This record gives sequence, structure tokens and C-alpha cells, in this order.
Amino acid sequence: MRTLIRAGVVVPATGGRTVENGGVVIENGRILDVLGARTAGEPFAGRIVDVPDCAVIPGLVNIHTHGVSPSPLFPSGAAALPEERWLGHLDRHLAAGTTTVLSTCGLGTMAEIREADRRHAVHVRGATAHTPGALAAALAADGAGLGPAHRASTVERMLEDGAVAIGELGGGQTLGGGGQDLVYLPAAIRRLTGRTVTQEQARGLKEAVLGRFMDEGSGDAELFAARAAEAGLGDVPRDELRALVVGTVMPSVGHARDGIREGIEAAVRFGVPALVHSAAASADLIRSLLSLPRARGTVIAGHVNHTSHTVEEAMRLAEAGRDAGWHGEASVFDLLEGRETVRTREHWDALLSAPGLVDVLATDYGHDGRHDPLIAGVQDLIDAGHRTLAQAVEMATSVPAALIPGLVDGGAMLRRGAPADVVIARRDDLRDVRAVLVGGEDVVRHGQVLAGVHA
Ligand SMILES: [Zn+2]
Repeated sequence: MRTLIRAGVVVPATGGRTVENGGVVIENGRILDVLGARTAGEPFAGRIVDVPDCAVIPGLVNIHTHGVSPSPLFPSGAAALPEERWLGHLDRHLAAGTTTVLSTCGLGTMAEIREADRRHAVHVRGATAHTPGALAAALAADGAGLGPAHRASTVERMLEDGAVAIGELGGGQTLGGGGQDLVYLPAAIRRLTGRTVTQEQARGLKEAVLGRFMDEGSGDAELFAARAAEAGLGDVPRDELRALVVGTVMPSVGHARDGIREGIEAAVRFGVPALVHSAAASADLIRSLLSLPRARGTVIAGHVNHTSHTVEEAMRLAEAGRDAGWHGEASVFDLLEGRETVRTREHWDALLSAPGLVDVLATDYGHDGRHDPLIAGVQDLIDAGHRTLAQAVEMATSVPAALIPGLVDGGAMLRRGAPADVVIARRDDLRDVRAVLVGGEDVVRHGQVLAGVHA
């Protein structure tokens, strides 16, 4: 049966266009036609869905996600999430209009990615970070989720087996970032002292010893003493505590840097897109890699708005990346709604209001998987005046699809022949997702995932 969705506005996500009072015709799971106002109003033989207060947009594409498959979690190769959690993450992506995700944990097998794809209505695609340095970094930081198949794999084999990108190259867990502050450093302090420190306290201790750039020569003994006292560790011998910080954070850092270099070289060699963890700890390395010849291969700097940079540093690095032909991805994290990990929108606003620094929106993981929805990022760009409706939608649909060939069948546009992966959302606030279709099938109604999206 044919269905016509008549909407207040149709956003095809191609050419910066919007179609007022347009329509989208769906048949056999595919888009049969996109109609202008006049034809959409003509008699139609089939089911008509009238949503005059809504926008119809392509299903969103999220190229920076973690915890969406049974593979090892994060670039640190941590133990996989239990099934109900990764399926739950996919539910949340879908309920908010995302129909394709790229798993950027990077160290799983394609069998695990295919398992997630088969088990859920969201299209799950895989990236690979199986370089020697990245694997060594994971084993140094954690590696609890890495089995023999993960350790033995290579980027080349993963690409042959269907991985569509290389990444995430580096990560907070292996580069002395947020993952260290949240999990590994507090755990090490607990083992040594029996005491619990917060993420902020762990970060404070780490930065007093290693600075923001994970440099052993940049310690500040006085600051370290003050922060140790604040964290309730004033009685722990200072040398011992310092050695613990260095010994917990640093073993993976050098390997992770090697992994970033190897991954970008592989992207150039194989002509495949790569996603790189852009943060203070990787900034100098990224600068040195910007000059690599990129006759083939696309490099995407992940979360150019990472708050380990100062706003100035983030701007300068993103400009250098843009000038070298790299692409910039801004992550929503939880900076718009949750505000557990990122409590400022300064970086986001500065980067998005400058021309050409951000091409793509994604989410990354947020605090323990509680990231804001990608569609909230799209809506925010419109509300803040950074982009038009059409531009904002393209940054989370057709642009990421074009950057990563093979990621989305049909290119995440509303056009004839493309799969009917479609979102219907309130026009004046896209976060109000009324319905989502995948391959023409209803999978979300009024923000609720329907039974049957899990296989
Ligand atoms: Zn990252």
C-alpha cells in the first residue's frame, strides 16, 4: 500500500532545500516521491497521514556512538555492556529519530556489529581501530572485553569484513581524559587507600601531576598537595600518590598516540574515512598529522568542541583542521540537557558560529551513556541561529552519510528510491518526535519505541 505523509514542511536534506506543505510518498519500504505543495494536495489513492504542524526529515545518522553493540566498550576495550543496556541505548537513539549509528568503540568484531544490527531496528554499522598501538593502549588501560578474536584482528581484515570507517582513534580512557577521571583513576585510588574520590577530584589530581596535555614534566607540587588534601588524601605519602597517578594514566597514552598515527596512515592507505579523538591530550599530535598527504581518505576530527581544550585552543585546532581539509564533528555530549559531564556550551557556540569549523553533529557517549539526543543538537543549532532548519538537518543526515560511504543506503536523504527511514517531528521543536519509520515500518510513535523493534 502507498502512504502519503503531508507535512507542514519537508526537509529532503539535499541542496539546502525545504518544501513548505510538501509530501513524501512511501511504497514497499522505499520513498516513491517527494511532492511540492500543489501535488501533495491532489487526490491520492492510498493512506494519507496529515501532519501540518510537523516536519518530515530523513532518519538521523550518528557517526560517533559507543555502547550500541555487544563488542568491547570504548577504545579501552572494556567489558561489553550487558545486552539490555546496549539494546536500551539503541532504543533511546531510535526514539529520538536516529535510524543509523556508527559504533565507534572500534575494537569489536564485525560479527558483533552484525548481531546488533540484526537485533534492532536501528541500522548499526561498524568502525575499526585494530592498529597495534590502539590495541596496546586498550590492554594498558583496561582490555577486559578483549578476547582472542579482537586482539588478532587488523584494520585491513575489518574493512574486508564490512567496517565502513576507522575509529575512534584514541579516547578519553586511553589518553588520560574523562574516562580516566570517571573510572580508572578513582578505582586505583580506592585500591591504594580504600577511599572514594569524585570524578572532579580525580581530574584535579591528574592535572596537578600531568597538566591538561598529559605531560610528566608539567607537574605542580603545591597544587597537587592542595588537591590531595581536598580529596581527603592529605595523609597519603605524596610520592606514592603521585606515582599512582602517573602509573595509572600514562601507560596507555603513548600507545594511544601511536594508534592515532597508525589509524590515520591506514585511512590514507586504504582510502577509508577515519574518526579521531580530538582533545587537549591529542592536540599536538593532530597538528603534526594535519600535513600528511591525503590523496585518499577522509579524516574527521571527533568532538572538536571537547572541553579539555580552552575555547581558544579548540577554535585554533579546528581552523587548522579545516585548512588542511579535515572535517569537524561537534558532539552534543550532555551539554544541552543532562549537563553531568559538560556544563558549558561556550565551545559549542564558538565553533558553530564560526564558518566551516563544524560539518557534522554526533553525540558521543555522555555520562555513562546518558548523552543528549542528536535531534536536540539539531534543534539547538536552529534556536541559537547557527544554522537554518535545512542546514541543521543535513549536518545529522546527508552530510555524515556522504563522508562515510557505505554507512547509509540512500544517503540519508528524502529522494526517490531511498529506503523510507523517516522522522516526523514537531516543526517548532524537533525534539518532539511523533513518529519514526525504518524501511517504511512504524518503529516509534509519540517518542515511544514500539514492540517489535527488537529481533
Ligand atoms: Zn572521543
